[in-house]
Amino acid sequence: MAIQFSRGCPFQCEFCDIIVLYGRKPRTKKPAQVLHELQVLLDLGWRNEVFLVDDNFIGNKRNVKLLLPELQQWQKQNGYPFSFTTEASVDLADDEDLMQAMARCGFRRVFLGIETPDQESLLVTQKLQNTRAPLAQAVDRITSHGLQVMAGFILGFDGEQPGAGERIAAFVNQTGIPLAMVGILQALPNTALWHRLAKEGRLLKNQDNFDVGTITHLLNFVPTRPIADLAAELVQVFSDLYAPIPYLERVYRYSCKLSIGRSPQLRRWNQSSSIVLGVLILCWRQGVVRETRWIFWKRLAQIALNHSLVLDEYLWLLMLNEHFIDYKDFIGEQIELQLAFQSLAL
Ligand code: SF4
Repeated sequence: MAIQFSRGCPFQCEFCDIIVLYGRKPRTKKPAQVLHELQVLLDLGWRNEVFLVDDNFIGNKRNVKLLLPELQQWQKQNGYPFSFTTEASVDLADDEDLMQAMARCGFRRVFLGIETPDQESLLVTQKLQNTRAPLAQAVDRITSHGLQVMAGFILGFDGEQPGAGERIAAFVNQTGIPLAMVGILQALPNTALWHRLAKEGRLLKNQDNFDVGTITHLLNFVPTRPIADLAAELVQVFSDLYAPIPYLERVYRYSCKLSIGRSPQLRRWNQSSSIVLGVLILCWRQGVVRETRWIFWKRLAQIALNHSLVLDEYLWLLMLNEHFIDYKDFIGEQIELQLAFQSLAL
């Protein structure tokens, strides 16, 4: 289930439409309202995951710090019925108190817009908050509090050098981030990027056939690198990140780090029949059919024996690769279609 605590974000990334739609002064609900919404979900019988679908959960740090103690108290009184996922900016890693408070409340996952490990591209796109400290350290620091980092990456910033996809894959492997979403830059209407590109005469027309904003969508403007190179890097980075054995090993390494900061009260097993079926399918496909079979059982035993606090999450992450394995083929097909479409349109 999803609820929302805040809207807006104080930063000014050039490509972002959040700040155009909701502004740069984040507004928040009062803690009592958030707790009321959670109570309604609880009364309706919901348990486990709640996604705080904020643009940037820590955009208004003062108000977040007012919410978290009350949220922790509510969780405790109700036997920790929920775990939380949210989206936040990378400067979360600079605030020890905030990370600890989130972990105490039952936050398990945080989506970060890392965008790229290339410093020049971060400067070009005005994502200055990502240039202030090494990004890999920020990921490690957040992970050490038991918060699983999910991350978004973008290819196609102006001036980007060839090999950006490889550098993203290397960064993901270095940090171990299990779920890394990679897409190609798009200019969303009315963003600073959109206005700059319009001024430079670089926005493409005839883009109606594909939904802007989806991960498989190619650029809707003339990039500084050949589109075919960007498309090839996008397809390649997905293949690298979600190849069965490297993915399994990455999830294993990351789960070991994650378990160190994970609180025992967050151990929660969802025993619905669909989860049981999912685990059975996972064991069959990755433990018997695929080339992962030896490593699958070895790593599963290691996690179960040494890091059992994250066993449920480890299995969930492995299950997700059943989706990504197919999805990387889908991306290849979609990109090919769009390249053909764009060559006709130009
Ligand atoms: S940090 Fe995220 S939400 Fe905030 S301006 Fe940048 S992209 Fe938008």
